[in-house]
Amino acid sequence: MKVIDHINNAKDTVVSFEVLPPLKGRTINSLYQHLDPLMEFKPSFINVTYHRSEHIFKKKSDGTFEKVEVRKRPGTVGICAAIMNHYKVDAVPHLICGGFTKRETEDALIDLNFLGIDNVLVLRGDATKNEASFEPEPNGNRYAIDLLKQVDNLNNGIYQEDDIREGFRTHFCIGTAGYPEKHFEAPNMESDLRYLKAKVDAGAEYILTQMFFDNAKFFEFVDKCRQAGITVPIIPGLKPLTNKKQLTIIPRIFHVDIPSDLLNEMNRAKTDEDCELVGQEWLINQSRELKKAGVPVLHYYTLGKPAIIYNAVAKVF
Ligand code: FAD
Repeated sequence: MKVIDHINNAKDTVVSFEVLPPLKGRTINSLYQHLDPLMEFKPSFINVTYHRSEHIFKKKSDGTFEKVEVRKRPGTVGICAAIMNHYKVDAVPHLICGGFTKRETEDALIDLNFLGIDNVLVLRGDATKNEASFEPEPNGNRYAIDLLKQVDNLNNGIYQEDDIREGFRTHFCIGTAGYPEKHFEAPNMESDLRYLKAKVDAGAEYILTQMFFDNAKFFEFVDKCRQAGITVPIIPGLKPLTNKKQLTIIPRIFHVDIPSDLLNEMNRAKTDEDCELVGQEWLINQSRELKKAGVPVLHYYTLGKPAIIYNAVAKVF
């Protein structure tokens, strides 16, 4: 079932989770152990992130370095199929521009369609560690909107091979990313919102946001989207803080602020357990307020500490 149908059919806020594929070398059972307790909350869908290959330099025995390609978390498509089969819950693979030609993207979409997967979250992806800024593959998609248009084309039976006539029309429900605190490359919020609106106009049926720790920023973002004529559902993405290192890592990687109250409470926490309790309590309060405000879905990034997500969701739903 499509994410948009889950939203439209729901009478109240529903819950969804996001997982990462296990690190290469680990089995899918590690993912099932992670998800099993959370299934009690009957998530409407589960997102699975996509992780492209990276180039690293490995030291050889003669002291020189060789450039090797590593992919730490493969398996997004397989995991989506496994989740749907194992839990009978809809899975939403993340699909990125980076590392794919348009033809490879098309083949990936055909695989998803054959597996009965009706949803994709369409993203650009970030620059690799060796790139100063994001570079698409030759004949790849540069921006999320370009990938989105490709998916929309396939939904209309338009394939890369222009000799395919009357091609099968896929029926993907397309989600897109939004940034309550602005995407870090965008010169300003107005520009970011203009491109977000373009993605919606091109066929995105809902927006899933970057994590945020200050609900006021989310509410302000929703207001700005509505003023800009964006009418699709906006799903807040939530993640708990669990340790003091994240106080600097999260702003650096995800370009989001930590509110002063949360920062002060984390700094006052003496042990790791105290930090987790602070993060959990903050997540509960954020979730309660968002649910009260009538958000369609509460989407939890479950990486790391699923027990905290479990405890929080148990208090909110
Ligand atoms: P875009 O919408 O393409 O926007 C990128 C930047 O370009 C923005 O600053 C925007 O304002 C600007 N822009 C957009 N369109 C145009 C245009 N036509 N012309 C000029 N400028 C334009 N990354 C992964 O690798 N794997 C994942 O699984 C993953 N999951 C994510 C899930 C969520 C909910 C979020 C919020 C992010 C996720 N990311 C993931 C990270 C994401 O790939 C990065 O944030 C990336 O830098 C931007 O992706 P986007 O889809 O928002 O890009």
